[in-house]
Amino acid sequence: MGGSEMKYINEAFDNNWVAPLGSNVDGLEKEIENYLGGNLHTAALSSGTAALHLALLQCGVMRGDEVICQSMTFSASANPIVYCGAVPVFVDSEKDTWNMCPETLQLAIEERIKKGKKPKAIIVVHLYGMPAKMEEILKVANEYEIPVIEDAAEALGSRYKNRACGTFGRFGVLSFNGNKIITTSGGGALVCHTKEDKDKAVFLSTQARDDAPHYQHSEIGYNYRMSNICAGIGRGQMEVLGDRVKTRRKIHDFYAELFRTVDGVEVFSAPAREYFSNHWLSAITIDPDIAQKTREDLRLALLEDNIESRPLWKPMHLQPVFADAPYYGGEIGQSVFNKGLCLPSGSNLTEYDKQRIAKSIIQFFKH
Ligand SMILES: *Cc1c(COP(=O)(O)O)cnc(C)c1O
Repeated sequence: MGGSEMKYINEAFDNNWVAPLGSNVDGLEKEIENYLGGNLHTAALSSGTAALHLALLQCGVMRGDEVICQSMTFSASANPIVYCGAVPVFVDSEKDTWNMCPETLQLAIEERIKKGKKPKAIIVVHLYGMPAKMEEILKVANEYEIPVIEDAAEALGSRYKNRACGTFGRFGVLSFNGNKIITTSGGGALVCHTKEDKDKAVFLSTQARDDAPHYQHSEIGYNYRMSNICAGIGRGQMEVLGDRVKTRRKIHDFYAELFRTVDGVEVFSAPAREYFSNHWLSAITIDPDIAQKTREDLRLALLEDNIESRPLWKPMHLQPVFADAPYYGGEIGQSVFNKGLCLPSGSNLTEYDKQRIAKSIIQFFKH
């Protein structure tokens, strides 16, 4: 926590606004809009997953439709497609950012159209905070007039060509889950570009009540709005977001320096200056042919020293639950998954922790 969270929570109690509405919800939405910049309208919701679900519904995704989704991601990017009764079509990543490959995206769209179904939406992810190749992706999406939903759950504070991630697509999705760069304990937001889109998201997230004195419903609604208490935590967290981004980027620099002289290990880094990552998690890939060791060897060695690390997200087209879903691309996501490891990256990592990690890693590569 940053320090002011309790102040905002106490305000909510003092005003007795312990509900999914109130001044903290409004305040948090404004603060997110100011932080991201531009003319935005944001709906604070109960989770990033809820935001993705509403984005799909507002793109008109219905039963039997197809939605293109980056394969290399966390399952929450793809699950809401199935909530809509639609079918995910997975697309491989490119090597530079580990995000959706624009050329494979184009191929996938053309193939699906040939098969008789034009995809209803495209979900692109900024994995580990690294911006995707948005210019190329938007060019393809615009050519076929398919709306883009930007899953920026891991990328709050990241920028591409000096514009905030989450503001490129028709909808942007943020997450404030406990593991993200800032948290409301659980929460998310849908970033919209029109007041109509935001109002519709709020309507759907509060059980879709029609304008009537009694309870009248013409649409299926959801209970997806953020509570005023969680929003209070979020307002405190927004005050320290800038610091958090700086801290995570410093952790990335620490690993870049640590592995500079280790053959066969690459620290996942921005391919060019226009990709500004919040470095939510620092990740590496280990080439076993050069390093003579695998990422699993390193994971187990760190575990011996009571240091937790984790493999990368396993691509969705390799997940049992999505075994039947169409997939376009090669083995880039799979290869990155096989070689990749996420290293300790928390904002609360101390100098002592870093020394301990460095010692363990240096020891491991010595043998
Ligand atoms: C965390 C995450 C989500 C889901 O956000 P929740 O707030 O946990 O529902 C979606 N996509 C990605 C890429 C994530 O990392």
